[in-house]
Amino acid sequence: MLEERLKSVIRDIPDFPQRGIVFKDITPILKDQQLCSEIVDQLVAHLQGTKIDAIAGIESRGFLFGMLLANRLNIPFIPIRKQGKLPFKTISESYKLEYGQATIEVHEDAFAPGSKVLIHDDLLATGGTVVAASKLLEKLGADIVGYTFIISLDFLQSQGRLTRFTDRVISLVR
Ligand code: 5GP
Repeated sequence: MLEERLKSVIRDIPDFPQRGIVFKDITPILKDQQLCSEIVDQLVAHLQGTKIDAIAGIESRGFLFGMLLANRLNIPFIPIRKQGKLPFKTISESYKLEYGQATIEVHEDAFAPGSKVLIHDDLLATGGTVVAASKLLEKLGADIVGYTFIISLDFLQSQGRLTRFTDRVISLVR
């Protein structure tokens, strides 16, 4: 089963990036090109029947499979980046972190208003990042039609934060 194989390669890194955090390292997945293809196959299978105009991926690990998925679905990819990285005119959204705050941005011409956009990131923890990404895209007139993650940390029970945008929340590993 894909979930079991992914679990066997995703590494737990204790005390990264700071003490007390156990970081899920997805980089070993990237060494296995067959596994990467199967991830995209599985995401595509889950999304059968969902009308999607574009995939938005969140810097930086959301770019990896977000772009592969968009390319497979033959639709555009929208990069969402941290403040100050995108070169053209941007709009931004700030959100709270455990300590301090973060701001993400998107190019204001990234997609047409009314587009059905799916948001992809590698991992769902508290949901703060994808909620901010959803608000950011909605400012430009996006209709959020789904979320995909490689991993969701279900013990945080953050999926409920996403249902105000859409019920379609897909994670390959829980
Ligand atoms: P959230 O906003 O849901 O609390 O955190 C999710 C964001 O933090 C994602 O952009 C994700 O890349 C990053 N993140 C948080 N913890 C981890 C982790 O253990 N592993 C990985 N790969 N990313 C993490």
